[in-house]
Amino acid sequence: MATTKRVCLVHYHEIGLKGKNRGFFENQLVMNLKFALKDTPVTTVRRISGYLLVTFRGDATKAEANLIAQVPGVARVSVAHECPREEDAYCQAAIDALGEAQDFKTFKVHAHKSSTDYEMHTLDINRLVGSKLCEAFPDKKVDVHHPDVTVHVNVVQGVVFVYALSERAVGGLPVGTAGKVVTLLSSGFDSPVATWKVGRRGAICVPIHFSGRPLTSDTSEWLTQDIVRALAPAGMIGRLYVVAFGARQREISLKVDQKLRIITYRRVMFAVAQRLAKIEGAKALVTGESLGQVASQTLENIAAVDEIATIPVLRPLIGSDKQEIIERSRQINTYDISSTTVPDCCTLFMPRRPETHAKMDQVHEAWDSFDHDGMIDDLIDNIEYIDADQCVSYRPPKQFREHHVELAPARAMPSDQNE
Ligand code: ATP
Ligand code: MG
Repeated sequence: MATTKRVCLVHYHEIGLKGKNRGFFENQLVMNLKFALKDTPVTTVRRISGYLLVTFRGDATKAEANLIAQVPGVARVSVAHECPREEDAYCQAAIDALGEAQDFKTFKVHAHKSSTDYEMHTLDINRLVGSKLCEAFPDKKVDVHHPDVTVHVNVVQGVVFVYALSERAVGGLPVGTAGKVVTLLSSGFDSPVATWKVGRRGAICVPIHFSGRPLTSDTSEWLTQDIVRALAPAGMIGRLYVVAFGARQREISLKVDQKLRIITYRRVMFAVAQRLAKIEGAKALVTGESLGQVASQTLENIAAVDEIATIPVLRPLIGSDKQEIIERSRQINTYDISSTTVPDCCTLFMPRRPETHAKMDQVHEAWDSFDHDGMIDDLIDNIEYIDADQCVSYRPPKQFREHHVELAPARAMPSDQNE
């Protein structure tokens, strides 16, 4: 009897809804999965009757399934048994698969044929496999309506895939199917989660970080790099841009009334991010703002900053509570990094009483009190970047080639340091 091998079956529900675009979405997902698995002994990633099949030299393990589960576009992943189309083989695989399930009382078998050259009817396969499982698990019962576990038996060209367990994955859409965005990334809790959410919906994310350098240390830059590294499994980050904003903030603080400083810094940040978006070919900006969370995030202040943007500003967390954001940051492994509080440009020259309900005429007066265009040009001219090499579909702009700065080598993650 030929041997059974473990493979990963990747389910991607939502793509199925996309009609004519289906092929485009599937090809992108195949490409992204190959990239996500490049450090594993992966051998093939290909479409096979409604899902993707991922094979490895040797057996697929939970570790590889976990990597797959973090790739946007994947709804669920199963470590399935691939066996020959022989009754003994797939019945044994079904026994092994059900044996992997724990804490269940009832089960059913669900056979599916996507190959017409296998004669046996799916109902007969259900009956055959079901009877073998009843023999192997005498204390378990069949329940065809509400089973605790379903054993799937999929007969395809040449082989049968059998699995009982599947891990829920991140869902969303494959990165590269929704264009590119520039995301304003601090080392706080919110913006990494906002970035991840937009990336999960298929966007290639190009983060820009404003540091207080040279007036603060560069720690916020290190942390932002750690965040980019933490997001690596999702394959959504193209490149991290860093702007040393400290000296320019001092200039603003000397000219602009303290109440309007934050709004003015923000307007400069948006203007620079938008210029970068144009250079990168990105179609929107992303921020981690959530309504009313802090003084600067009132509707008036959002409007005062938004005025600068001519492309859409996405705020995926606008209706989220802090607790939800924190939970998500744990799931995407940015929580520990964001827990470290460090000075960045936001802590520099902070007013004692910031404006919470900005008046537009005052905002304009503040804006016109310094050479904002010259400042924006200069900040773009001196922008630095580090290539994350995480997103297979990211294409960098030619513009900055000559002033690439290697920011910093990889540093131990906070979680590694605890070990
Ligand atoms: P976060 O948790 O993302 O730092 P926050 O709760 O500290 O957000 P704000 O300081 O008002 O809130 O920042 C709002 C948004 O502005 C951030 O989510 C981020 O998108 C952007 N932003 C703030 N500081 C920076 C920075 N230093 N560099 C880049 N973007 C920033
Ligand atoms: Mg912050």
